[in-house]
Amino acid sequence: MQPVQILKKYFGYDSFREGQEVLIRGILAGKDVLGIMPTGAGKSVCYQIPALMLPGITIVISPLISLMKDQVRALNEAGVHAAYINSSLTESQISKALYNARCGQYKIIYVAPERLESSLFRDFAVHTDISMVTVDEAHCISQWGQDFRPSYLNILKLVRCLPRRPVISAFTATATEKVKEDIINVLGLVSPKVLVTGFDRKNLYFEVKESGKKDAELLNYLRRHAGESGIIYCATRKNVDAVFELLVKYGYSVAKYHAGMNNEERKKNQDDFIFDNRPLIVATNAFGMGIDKSNVRFVIHYNMPQSMENYYQEAGRAGRDGENADCILLYSPQDVVVNQFLIDSKEVRAEIDEREAYALRERDALKLRQMTDYCMSKDCLRGYILRYFGEEAKDGCGNCSNCLREFEEKDVTKECLHVINCIMETRQRFGINMIVGILRGEKNAKLLSYHFDRLDSYGKEKGANKDYLKQIIHQMIISNIACTTKDQYPILKLTGAAEDYIWGGEHLTMKVPKVSINIEQKPSKAGARVKSGSPGLFEKLRQLRLEIAREEHMPPYIVFSDKTLVDMCAKLPGTKEEMLAVIGVGEVKYLKYGERFLEVLQKERA
Ligand code: ADP
Ligand code: ZN
Repeated sequence: MQPVQILKKYFGYDSFREGQEVLIRGILAGKDVLGIMPTGAGKSVCYQIPALMLPGITIVISPLISLMKDQVRALNEAGVHAAYINSSLTESQISKALYNARCGQYKIIYVAPERLESSLFRDFAVHTDISMVTVDEAHCISQWGQDFRPSYLNILKLVRCLPRRPVISAFTATATEKVKEDIINVLGLVSPKVLVTGFDRKNLYFEVKESGKKDAELLNYLRRHAGESGIIYCATRKNVDAVFELLVKYGYSVAKYHAGMNNEERKKNQDDFIFDNRPLIVATNAFGMGIDKSNVRFVIHYNMPQSMENYYQEAGRAGRDGENADCILLYSPQDVVVNQFLIDSKEVRAEIDEREAYALRERDALKLRQMTDYCMSKDCLRGYILRYFGEEAKDGCGNCSNCLREFEEKDVTKECLHVINCIMETRQRFGINMIVGILRGEKNAKLLSYHFDRLDSYGKEKGANKDYLKQIIHQMIISNIACTTKDQYPILKLTGAAEDYIWGGEHLTMKVPKVSINIEQKPSKAGARVKSGSPGLFEKLRQLRLEIAREEHMPPYIVFSDKTLVDMCAKLPGTKEEMLAVIGVGEVKYLKYGERFLEVLQKERA
């Protein structure tokens, strides 16, 4: 059988995605490969298909127990015999699994890197025909990465003790040059086929919404996306608790997750989410490592994260099935302050000296600034993300909030001069809020205690919108007219360039939206996914999927992905052949569930 036939038979897909076939062909030709692909691109089939075609066993090294379980479950579900070996099994279960493997029961076994040291496993490996060693999350081998795992260094030792050197295939979503070199060198890949696919995730819609009313925004969004599965990320545990309470109060079925909860509670909540018992989860960034749930339809950030790396990783958990999904960031300037505080209070590891600690803090501060720039950007958000990760990007993706909003260039020189004057009058000793307060002629106690109501600047921008003035100040910072100090309460200061505006007649312009749209008016692609077929059909199919998932104690997305259900709605299959033409329906899955889905669809056709 050809790779593409295996793809169809077991995984139910008609064609390969970008990069997959090249890697598969490379492996089958006996070459080492390194696949660098973003989350959701489909790395798994790149080694699973060759594993099925090679004569011996494939050992997959994977760092996360939960992910391993999920992968093995999905494989068995598709009719591929696979097993995993990690610390969640007893010694006798492990012996049994290894025995079965040696008898040729499995084509693929997943192994935690720590296991590679055990003599039981070594003995097994030496006496078994191993065709390939696959290293998943291969960046864990790099000391330069954030997730360095010393036990990954065991991989090379294992490979060296095998009687015949297997093909090595490595996969990661981390694309920096340093990490790439490390993977090739440390794993000892021999003139590998390296393939880097783009980081763009076309099915994700990006939006930044600056708002002082985050609760209302959130509830508004959820109301329009009832029943869909989504993650809501918050910066702190306190935020998680508060948002969780809010959603419970409004009757949502929601779970929560943060490091302050005990293991058991966390595990239960995570499972509730994965199994769709509770479609929503509110969490800190402690949640998500190893979460493979493919039908996450939206990721909302209630707070701005600390870096673009964090943001893209978390937002990228939406839409892994390739269906449209939303990534929305609710931003308020307060987020910057909270994050700066979190960065400053980060514990410094004992072995790090002062200079290094300083460098790390500087790096974090830079990342935070770049994250803030994303939130304030008036240009294509996708473009910003791709360029951040070192890719080229066209202007205007047409699927982000900035591309869907029309802007006009506005001259704000007058306002800019007012700000400059106000900063000088208060002797460069105050933050943005105070400056804005003075310009708007506010009467708050702090302001009055300094007698700032007597300044020339007081009330110079009376009636101006607070956020609008802040945007102008941000534009001044971007244009290097002003800057903020790195104190806990940052102070706004002028740079030398300010003089060009005071004396030199320089003009400052800023993009402002022609009409301020909100998520409400977005031509929702997310809605379009349910539109084909009759309105309730998708819901009925989803219900049946949930029913089956409960019977089988399986996460619903492992039974069928959202994409598959959507395709059923579009194609309305009536026969076995037609059903097999639906994306994601392979032969084994058809045998298990095909009839039951046909039954529901039959009623639709009648
Ligand atoms: P990664 O490991 O790169 O994050 P996965 O291997 O989990 O991604 O794949 C993400 C999703 O894409 C899965 O639901 C998978 O079944 C699906 N997928 C993989 N290859 C294809 C393909 N050729 N056509 C359609 N869907 C695919
Ligand atoms: Zn765009």
